[in-house]
Amino acid sequence: MTTHSSAAAPRVLISGGGIAGNAVALQLSRAGIRPTVIERAAAPRPGGQAVDLRGPSRTVAERMGLMPGIHRHQLDERGMLHVDSAGHEIVRMPADLFGGNGAVAEIEITRGDLNQVLLEAISEAGSEPGNPGVDYRYGEFIRDLREHSDGVRVGFASGATMEFDVVIGADGLHSATRRLAFGPEEQFNTYLGAYTAYFTMPTPAGIEPHWMTMYSMPGGIVAGLRPDADPATAKALIIIRTDPDPALRRNIGGQQELIRTSLTGGGWQTATILDAMDRAEDFYFDEIARITLPHWTNGRIALVGDAGYCGSPLSGQGTAMALVGAYVLAGEIAHTPHDPAAALTRYTETLRPFVESAQQLPPGGVKAMVPRTKTGIRAAHAFARIATSRVMQPLMTRMLSETESYTLPDYPAAQPAPPLT
Ligand SMILES: Cc1cc2nc3c(=O)[nH]c(=O)nc-3n(C[C@H](O)[C@H](O)[C@H](O)COP(=O)(O)OP(=O)(O)OC[C@H]3O[C@@H](n4cnc5c(N)ncnc54)[C@H](O)[C@@H]3O)c2cc1C
Repeated sequence: MTTHSSAAAPRVLISGGGIAGNAVALQLSRAGIRPTVIERAAAPRPGGQAVDLRGPSRTVAERMGLMPGIHRHQLDERGMLHVDSAGHEIVRMPADLFGGNGAVAEIEITRGDLNQVLLEAISEAGSEPGNPGVDYRYGEFIRDLREHSDGVRVGFASGATMEFDVVIGADGLHSATRRLAFGPEEQFNTYLGAYTAYFTMPTPAGIEPHWMTMYSMPGGIVAGLRPDADPATAKALIIIRTDPDPALRRNIGGQQELIRTSLTGGGWQTATILDAMDRAEDFYFDEIARITLPHWTNGRIALVGDAGYCGSPLSGQGTAMALVGAYVLAGEIAHTPHDPAAALTRYTETLRPFVESAQQLPPGGVKAMVPRTKTGIRAAHAFARIATSRVMQPLMTRMLSETESYTLPDYPAAQPAPPLT
C-alpha cells in the first residue's frame, strides 16, 4: 500500500547522498515527504567494490522494490580464492559454503551500482501520483546547525540558511553532521589498525573469472581483485596495516604513495595493480574504523549508516546496516511525521539489536585478516582450510548468521507502489 500525505509534511534534510541517505530519501518520498538531500561531491560518487546483501538487508531491498535493479547489476562472484606470489591457489572458499554468509554473499553488487539503483528508484517513484520527489543539491554541505524549540536552523556552505524539522546525518564514517551535533570524531571512532583502498582497473591476464582473488604479503599487506559487472574490468582491493596517520585524510597523493611503497616488488599482480592505480578514475581510500555512539539521535538530529554505526569493511555489514537503518528511520518518521522526537526515539530502540549484532567483528579482527609475518600468513591459510572443512562448516554457518534473526518492522506507508497492471 502506498500512502501519500502531503499536508504539512515535515521538512527533512539529509546530509549525504550515499547508500543510507538515498535509501532514506526514497522511502520518505514514498510516504509523501519531500526531503532535501545535500551531497558534498559534485555528482553521485561512483566506485567501490562489491558490497553484500544478505538477511534483513535483502528483505529491505525487496520491500523497497530494489531487487529488479539489483539483479540487473548483480555480480557473478562465486567465492574467494587465496593465492601465493606466483598466483597458485592456496585455498578456495565457494560463496555457498556457509549458507551464503561467508565473505562472498549470494547477492553481491558494486557499491556504485547499488547507489545508482537507488537513484533510479527515486526517479521512478517521483513520477508516481502524490510522490513529492526529492530535492537534490550536489556540491553542498552543512556549515552549522542550530536546534531550537520549533526546528533546526541550518547554514550551508553555499551561504543559504534553511529551517528543517528533522536533520539526518548520512554523511559516512567522517560525518560532519555527527561532529556538529554530537561532538568530535575522536570520541566515537576506533581505528582498527589498517587502511583500505578500492579502484576499478582493466582485468589482468591470468585472473580466474568470477572469483575474488586475495594475496597476502608479509608486512601486513593484502592485495585483491574482485570481479566487476563488466568482465573487462576488475575491482582492485588493498589493505595495509599501519599506524593511523591524520596527514593521509583527503590527501590522495599521500594515500597512493603509501600503497606504492607497500606493494612495490610484492609479486603476484601487484605491479599491474600499481600501474592501474595511477589511471583510476574512482580511487577510494579510507581507514578501517568503527563508529560507536551511545545514541544515534540528539533532539531533532539523527545519524544513519556509517555516520552512526560504521562497522568497518571487516564486519561485512556496512551496506546492510545502511539499508536497514534507512528503512527503519524513514518508516518511523513516516509513522509519526508530526512528532519527530518520538519517531527518532523509536528508530534507536528498534534498530539497536540489529546494529549490535551487525557491528561485531570476526575473531582476531585486522590482525587475523592481514597477518604481518610469513608464519601468520600460513596460519591464516590453515585456518581458512579448517573453516571450510566438513566438520567446521555447520559451526561457521551458525556463527555467521547471527544478524539473520532480526525481525524487521513493517512500515506500510513506505512500501513501493504496486506495479501497474
Ligand atoms: C566512493 C565510495 C566507495 C566505497 N566503496 C566501498 C567498498 O568498496 N566496500 C565497502 O565495504 N564499503 C565501501 N564504501 C563505504 C560504504 O558505502 C558504506 O560503508 C556503506 O554503504 C554505508 O553507507 P553510508 O551511506 O552510510 O556511507 P557512504 O557510502 O560513505 O556515503 C556517505 C556520503 O556522504 C557524502 N558526504 C561526506 N561528507 C559529507 C558532508 N559533509 N556533506 C554532505 N555529504 C557528505 C559522501 O560523499 C558520500 O556520498 C564506499 C563509500 C564511498 C563513498
